[in-house]
Amino acid sequence: MRIGNGYDVHRLVEGRELKLGGVLIPFDRGLMGHSDGDALLHSIIDALLGAAGLGDIGNYFPPGDEEFRGADSERLLTHVAKLIDNLGLKLANLDATIIAEAPRLKEYIEPMRSSIALCIGGRPSLVNVKAKTNDGLGYLGEGDAIAAMAVVLLEEPT
Ligand code: MG
Repeated sequence: MRIGNGYDVHRLVEGRELKLGGVLIPFDRGLMGHSDGDALLHSIIDALLGAAGLGDIGNYFPPGDEEFRGADSERLLTHVAKLIDNLGLKLANLDATIIAEAPRLKEYIEPMRSSIALCIGGRPSLVNVKAKTNDGLGYLGEGDAIAAMAVVLLEEPT
């Protein structure tokens, strides 16, 4: 077994769509970023790369790269899942936490699990997503940003 963890945070700004886990969520602001700013998928990408010993998201999708301007992070996750698959590594399970003061994410959890599972090529039951607030504390609690963390377990080929 190989374990990896990932963390990401993006600033909430006006004039952007909010996307988390590959799912569009109605909100008055969205996450700033070179790509679509999907902090949840970015944390999952880093966890996968970490478990595989392949470095981090910046090695594959550099922030200044024009090819990834406004890119759907599902595309980035699908690419990384292929790298993992090429090494013969299989997803045992994945668990992620979103930290967002608003909006309420409860109804989007299942669509996120499906969307993440689709990118990785695994069953949604292997993918767990949780959401919590920051209890009003600090920049996350004030709603200036959304953060996500993820941990994944990969099985090595036998
Ligand atoms: Mg990011």
